Amino acid sequence: MKWEENVRRVTPYTPGEQPKKANMIKLNTNENPYPPAPGVALAAAAMDVEKFRLYPEFPEQTDLAAALAAHYHIGTDQLFIGVGSDDVLSMAFLTFFHSDRPVFFPDITYSFYDVWADVYRIPYEKKALDADFQIRPEDYRQPNGGVVFPNPNAPTGVRMPLEQVEEIVAANQDVVVIVDEAYIDFGGTSALPLIDKYDNLLVVQTFSKSRNMAGMRIGYACGQPKLIQYLNDVKYSVNSYTMNTAALELGAAAVRDEAYFTSCCQKIMDTRAVAQERLSALGFVFPESATNFIFASHKTVPAREIFERLKEYDIYVRWWNKARIDNYLRITIGTDEQMEALYRALGKILR
Ligand SMILES: *Cc1c(COP(=O)(O)O)cnc(C)c1O
Repeated sequence: MKWEENVRRVTPYTPGEQPKKANMIKLNTNENPYPPAPGVALAAAAMDVEKFRLYPEFPEQTDLAAALAAHYHIGTDQLFIGVGSDDVLSMAFLTFFHSDRPVFFPDITYSFYDVWADVYRIPYEKKALDADFQIRPEDYRQPNGGVVFPNPNAPTGVRMPLEQVEEIVAANQDVVVIVDEAYIDFGGTSALPLIDKYDNLLVVQTFSKSRNMAGMRIGYACGQPKLIQYLNDVKYSVNSYTMNTAALELGAAAVRDEAYFTSCCQKIMDTRAVAQERLSALGFVFPESATNFIFASHKTVPAREIFERLKEYDIYVRWWNKARIDNYLRITIGTDEQMEALYRALGKILR
């Protein structure tokens, strides 16, 4: 059709499968296997639906903003809240990556980055991870239009020490550096305290993994007020009311329960330590994980085959048919019971 010449064509991001099967074990999208904090259920039960008649409050004026600001010891003017970190990251790409120079990010990383860059027509250049899947800070010293990387990286699970994160931020003070900390609560060191020192640093986090609320769609970015203001200008030029009233209220209840948050993260780290031993014993190799997943390759059996065979046991993990990573499985850390079922199935498959 003639009109197709004027279509903005994109190849969309492909999320992990969301099969609807009773009793299946879902270890493919890094969701948290534990329920949200108990206060979330209480707040949901007490929610006054009459409020839904009105437009939501501005995120920065909500209890959620107040709770996050208190938790991270920052001002609400240093906080931007969005519909999951995908929304936050997408707005940040649109706002801060507006140069003729390429934006830099790793070759093996969150596969949404090149999708946003394509949809917004942002030039980019991928920087190869080294053979151990480490980001090499020296690669980020050439002139560029911005930098973005997750720390820890996904889907590798590899953590970068904070000194190296700072090295990249410090070497790129003429552009904005976005650090995507979706997995930081599982043992990494956040760059958040560095926002006071660097006006070009934006730290992005999410409720989807460590706060057990992927379905509520809450994410946020922290940076100096000027960065946040620019982000809000773009956001309010696209859609002012993206956060819904329920998410704003329930998110606040989740943040207030620090003890539950800490204990869930610890449980996942404990299960991960066992998983590293058990998977090694089954013949898998993987980089040390600082996340709620393990990126594992088997010494003899191809990843694709294991991925397909696991589905026969109703166990879903993630596999990508992509260069350099097509012999790896990304296995989300589930409950201890789910992981035992995984080891049992793997024991049969690999026999
Ligand atoms: C899961 C994830 C996100 C996005 O999560 P939301 O559910 O949109 O908050 C962003 N970056 C990375 C690296 C992720 O793994």
